Amino acid sequence: AEEAVRNDELVYQHDSRRHEAQWELSLLTQLDRAIDNGEVWVAYQPKLDVKTNRIAGAEALVRWTHPERGPISPDKFIRIAEEFHRIERITRFVVNEAVRSAVDLAQMGYDFSMSVNISAQLLRNPGLPGMISEILAAHGLPPEKLVLEITETDRLDRSSRTFQMLQRLVQSGLRLSIDDFGTGNATIDYLRYLPASEIKIDKVFVQAMEANKEDYLLVQSIIEMAHSLDRIVVAEGVETGTALEILKGMGCDTIQGYYVSRPVPFMDLIDNIERKHVRMNG
Ligand code: C2E
Ligand code: MG
Ligand code: MG
Ligand code: MG
Repeated sequence: AEEAVRNDELVYQHDSRRHEAQWELSLLTQLDRAIDNGEVWVAYQPKLDVKTNRIAGAEALVRWTHPERGPISPDKFIRIAEEFHRIERITRFVVNEAVRSAVDLAQMGYDFSMSVNISAQLLRNPGLPGMISEILAAHGLPPEKLVLEITETDRLDRSSRTFQMLQRLVQSGLRLSIDDFGTGNATIDYLRYLPASEIKIDKVFVQAMEANKEDYLLVQSIIEMAHSLDRIVVAEGVETGTALEILKGMGCDTIQGYYVSRPVPFMDLIDNIERKHVRMNG
C-alpha cells in the first residue's frame, strides 16, 4: 500500500510538473500578443529622498494583467522571457514607456530620474546600448536621467563582456544602480570596480532589520561602505515608519517601499509627486 501511495505521488508530481511546463509554454505564446494589445503595462514606484522628503525618481516595473488569469508576477514571466529570447522585446517596451513618462514629467517641470530593470542576460547582448540610445533620442531624454538597475549572480570578471558592456553604458552617460545588493555573490566586486552611482539594499535585509540585530548591523555597514565609496544608497522594501526612521538615522539617502507607495499607474505617480515634489524653477 505504501508503494501505491508513493506511485500516486510520483504520478501527481509528474502531472503537476507537466502542467507547469504547459502553463509556461502558454504564457510564452501569449506574451507577444499581450504586449501588442495592452495587457502588458508599466507601473511606477516612487523613490523618496529621505533628506528633502521629496520624490525625486521612480522605478518602472513591468506588469502583465491577463484577461482571464489576472495579474501575472514579473518574477515569473521575466524568467520565461529570458529563457525564450523575449527579454529584449519586453525591455524595449518598458524602457520606451519609462522614457516617455520621464519626458512628460520633465515637461511638467519636475527634476526627475527614471530607473529601469535590465536583466543580466541582456547585458550580454551587444545591441543593448544602441537600443537604449535610440529610445532616448526618439523622446529627447538626456541619458543622465535614466538609471539602469542591474543584478548579477556571477562574479564580475573585469575582462568579461558584461563588464565591458557596463562600462560602455556608463560612458554613454547612463547611470547604473546595483539592485538587490547583498544577495548575489558579485555584489562586492560590483561595488569595488563598477562606476555605479547607486546601490539598492535588498528588501530581505531591510525587512529583517527591525527585529534582528544582525540585519540591522548589516544594513548599517552597507550604508557606511557605500558612502565611503561615494555611492548613493537606496533601501528597498520599506513598509513601516519605524524602518524609515531607522534608515534616516543611518544616513540612508533614498527609500522605496509600500510605506511610501506601491508600484502604481503613471497617473497615480503624478498625483504622488505633486504632493512631494521637486520643481526645477521654484
Ligand atoms: P526588483 O527590481 O528588485 O523590484 C522590487 C520588487 O519589490 C518589486 O516587485 C516591487 O513591487 C516589490 N516591492 C516594492 N516595495 C515593496 C515593499 O515595501 N514590500 C514588498 N514586500 N515588496 C516591495 P515586482 O514588481 O513583482 O518585481 C519583481 C522583480 O521582477 C523585480 O525586482 C525585477 O527583478 C523584475 N522586474 C520587474 N520589472 C522588470 C522589467 O521591466 N525588466 C526586468 N528585466 N525585470 C523586471
Ligand atoms: Mg529593481
Ligand atoms: Mg531590488
Ligand atoms: Mg529583485
